[in-house]
Amino acid sequence: MELNELKKITDNFKNTGKMPALFIGHGSPMNALYNNPFTQNLTAVGNSLKEIKPNAILVVSAHWLTTNGTAVAVTPKPKTIHDFGGFPEELFKQQYPAPGAPNLALETKQLITSTIVHEDLRWGLDHGAWTVLVHMFPEANIPVFELSIDYTKPPEYHYNLASELKSLRKKGVIVIGSGNLVHNLYRVNFSDMAKPFEWAIEFDEVVKSKLIKKEYNDLMNYEALGTSALLSIPTNEHYLPMFYTLGITDKDEEIRFTYEEIQNASISMRCFQIG
Ligand code: ZN
Repeated sequence: MELNELKKITDNFKNTGKMPALFIGHGSPMNALYNNPFTQNLTAVGNSLKEIKPNAILVVSAHWLTTNGTAVAVTPKPKTIHDFGGFPEELFKQQYPAPGAPNLALETKQLITSTIVHEDLRWGLDHGAWTVLVHMFPEANIPVFELSIDYTKPPEYHYNLASELKSLRKKGVIVIGSGNLVHNLYRVNFSDMAKPFEWAIEFDEVVKSKLIKKEYNDLMNYEALGTSALLSIPTNEHYLPMFYTLGITDKDEEIRFTYEEIQNASISMRCFQIG
């Protein structure tokens, strides 16, 4: 696309104040149907964000992993993807019919110069996106688009990639990293009364403390943070979305922890907002 063509597109989006960036711990897809302290908190956070009138939401979800580079969804009407099995029929009936944001998706592609970003027309909204958006923005009237996670790359790559996207925040784009900071499905206990593992509590607190102290390098090199880290991150797809929230913000911006809980013994539902 020619630069002047892109300029025409982006001129359609009025400059706004700097939008915040969020990390949401999404947990079980069943949260889409639940009314619990976690989902009530999502509703409250969504209500506060509606007041600043975002133009669009960019979600980086643990459930869109690519291995041949980074992709951005340019779909005008993203479909609701039920990317899970073994849940009640009611969950498969859920739809989140928010429009896409092809123009902002193309601008996102243009902003990233360190790598080639593929335009994707097949992906929709996976459950890392819609099961939380259904509580935050139930009207589904704010356009949503997703950026994939290149799963062949280390945390630092994702942090640096996100830092190329900082100007999106002044185009009215709220960025949501959706994963879980502690996520061990081998140890999960689906009882609602499940007691959290000690290592899960411990590592969740370690991450919190390092976020407050802005020790991002330690968070990138999580394998060096001991046994609790290794038990909390057996695979890192749910941990990586955090680096998009960190990379698109600046270290002098305030961080607020909007929710904390360990669900199902081994999943941290910690959420935070920067800016
Ligand atoms: Zn997940």
